[in-house]
Amino acid sequence: MIFKEDIPLELAKEFFEDSEKTLKFIADVKWKEGFVCRKCGHTNYCEGKTPSSRRCTRCKKEESATANTLFHNIKFPINKAFYIAYNVCVLGNDFSSYNYSDQLGLNQMTCWKFRKRITDCIVKHGADKKKVAIKTILLSEY
Ligand SMILES: [Zn+2]
Repeated sequence: MIFKEDIPLELAKEFFEDSEKTLKFIADVKWKEGFVCRKCGHTNYCEGKTPSSRRCTRCKKEESATANTLFHNIKFPINKAFYIAYNVCVLGNDFSSYNYSDQLGLNQMTCWKFRKRITDCIVKHGADKKKVAIKTILLSEY
């Protein structure tokens, strides 16, 4: 299955190398329509404690860029997770979890679980469509 490429490879390569850039990108996509606090609905925020997180100026609730996205609570670098997501969703590469494990220096089971998370998400969103934008996948709540 080939997905609509809406993040060019040249840009994606920058994300593969840099977790803060990846986080910023996810935050930009996530809050494209503006920040809305999930707890109280307020729309003003300041920077949070971690890179690209935002903190509500009313109730002080902080939300990370990855909260309620496909990258929620992952325990390995976000740029590596983005690499797997991009390969699966955009490039249509069918690397095994063993390949990812070798390429990224991660535990094979970690790669397997994250890859499954993506493919589950694709099945959920792609059942009635041939193409799924990677942004749809990135912002799918997990
Ligand atoms: Zn709030």
